[in-house]
Amino acid sequence: MSDKEYTRCLIIGSGPAGYTAAIYAGRANLKPIEYCGIQPGGQLTQTTEVENFPGYPQGIDGNRMMADLREQAERFGTDVRDGEIVKADFSKSPYVLTTDRGTQIEADTVIIATGASAKYLGLEDEKKYNGQGVSACATCDGFFYRKKTVAVVGGGDTACEEALYLANLCKKVYMIVRKNYLRASDVMRQRVENKDNIEILYEHNTLGLYGENGVEGAHLVKRKGEADEQKYDLPIDGFFLAIGHKPNTDVFKEWLDLDETGYIKTENGTPRTKIKGVFAAGDCADPVYRQAIVAAGSGCMAALEAERYLGTIGK
Ligand code: NDP
Repeated sequence: MSDKEYTRCLIIGSGPAGYTAAIYAGRANLKPIEYCGIQPGGQLTQTTEVENFPGYPQGIDGNRMMADLREQAERFGTDVRDGEIVKADFSKSPYVLTTDRGTQIEADTVIIATGASAKYLGLEDEKKYNGQGVSACATCDGFFYRKKTVAVVGGGDTACEEALYLANLCKKVYMIVRKNYLRASDVMRQRVENKDNIEILYEHNTLGLYGENGVEGAHLVKRKGEADEQKYDLPIDGFFLAIGHKPNTDVFKEWLDLDETGYIKTENGTPRTKIKGVFAAGDCADPVYRQAIVAAGSGCMAALEAERYLGTIGK
């Protein structure tokens, strides 16, 4: 591989958005290059079974699904590569993107599909029980906890939404909230307060998790550091993180408009960014839905936009 390359279409990221963009761009004969990023396959490789992606009546293993998408992208001519894009220069077209190996890629169009990462508390036990009772996506994994007892960490709108979703499936849902109030909007707060099987544990922090073969409970502390601090164990079957997401957009912040959390701002309902020929698809530009099927759809839109844009510049 030389230190300088040229492509009509560079795709950054390898979740459902990136691979779908690659399939469409490949079939349109754009001969795209795709860089997989630090977590090849994206967030779905962190989950176990994907049951809500249309077309898989029996569900599908997240890793399997991403491997299939990669194969499909490669079948249509996408050059899928390991590695990261660490620098972007969108000052003039063709744009210049630099990889972690120092290769500079000139690209007429760029599809950013770098995703977002769920935030974790940073406990060792979160890693230990990942996929065995620890999840950062109620919509993905809630179904496995039907009629069980779970806890959701966080007091924002996401935590409330996840708790309400789980409350319709589970026997009991605890919300573990570190402050003595919910940060969520009034309407969400009222909904969780009015739900019979949701119990909000205010001024609580999680110290760790326990269990033989998966999560069986959480070690909690109430009013940490206060005179009346109280430590106790709460039996639960599932532990859901809902303390926010961080979109993986740092590399592009110099060039694109981001919202206060770092999500890329796009033109109403399209993947167009403020720079012509640069598109954003999937979770890096979606603070609202954050679903694989939505990401795949926006990846398709980005590839179609890229193809049209190339036509307008005669490439
Ligand atoms: P937020 O940043 O709003 O809330 C994060 C929550 O997690 C807060 O309660 C925060 O606590 C808590 N938290 C953060 N770090 C820790 C930690 N280390 N330990 C314990 N608790 C922690 O994130 P959301 O994902 O909820 O929302 C992001 C944005 O998306 C918001 O603007 C929200 O309104 C919006 N949204 C809107 C929805 C809707 O309208 N239906 C649905 C989902 C999201 P603390 O309050 O103490 O800081």
